[in-house]
Amino acid sequence: MSPDLQRLIKLQQLESTIVDAKATIASHPQRLADADARLNDGKQAVEAAKNRLKENHEARRHLEKDVAVYQGRLTKFKDQLSLVKTNKEYQAMQHEIATAQSDLGAVEEKVLERMLEADTISADVKRAETVLVARQKEIDVEKKELAEELVSVEASLKQATEARTELLKDIEPRLIAIFEQVARARKGVAICSATRDGLCSLCHVRLRPPVFQQVRHNDSIIQCESCHRILYWIPPPPPIEHAVVHT
Ligand SMILES: [Zn+2]
Repeated sequence: MSPDLQRLIKLQQLESTIVDAKATIASHPQRLADADARLNDGKQAVEAAKNRLKENHEARRHLEKDVAVYQGRLTKFKDQLSLVKTNKEYQAMQHEIATAQSDLGAVEEKVLERMLEADTISADVKRAETVLVARQKEIDVEKKELAEELVSVEASLKQATEARTELLKDIEPRLIAIFEQVARARKGVAICSATRDGLCSLCHVRLRPPVFQQVRHNDSIIQCESCHRILYWIPPPPPIEHAVVHT
């Protein structure tokens, strides 16, 4: 293969490394923010469950105050019952007592419901806390990996940028101009191989036979007539020689 083609292939590799590295570095703050957002969701789930538990306790306290009120009323009516003089008064008082007892029963029922609900909510709190602990660990690991990745990608960006600068010194300005023009128009990819059956491997257009023939020589700069990418040829591997087994 001609040194020009070899250098352009190398240039493409470096350019792609640089573009990828820059994209990874640019995405870094967002990936950190995403991790933090996931942690925050976990914290909020715990917070929400705790708030529900707090509301449950408050509601229960209110109901227990009502229980005390109804119990007080019931005691008062029972005391009064011993003081009534007439049958009519006695019946009226019995009626008051029955009502008070039924009110008390209803409130006590609600207290019981709240207590059962508290068990469920407490389990929810525990579950959310367990999830949060696991997520915290997971995100700590993720952030450590992100930080390590950043260091390594920054290093490879620096290395590729330096190598690119060096390489450009060895390439004819005319070729650099072609390369850059095509790269700009083709999402950064200015050079690609021709396939075995004579297609441009990226735009998939069939090359005219004389063009394909020239590309296969790998000794000149041939551009795809459709996408204008510079083409090179990867010769097929030599057929595997099967050892002849003598018997
Ligand atoms: Zn093409």
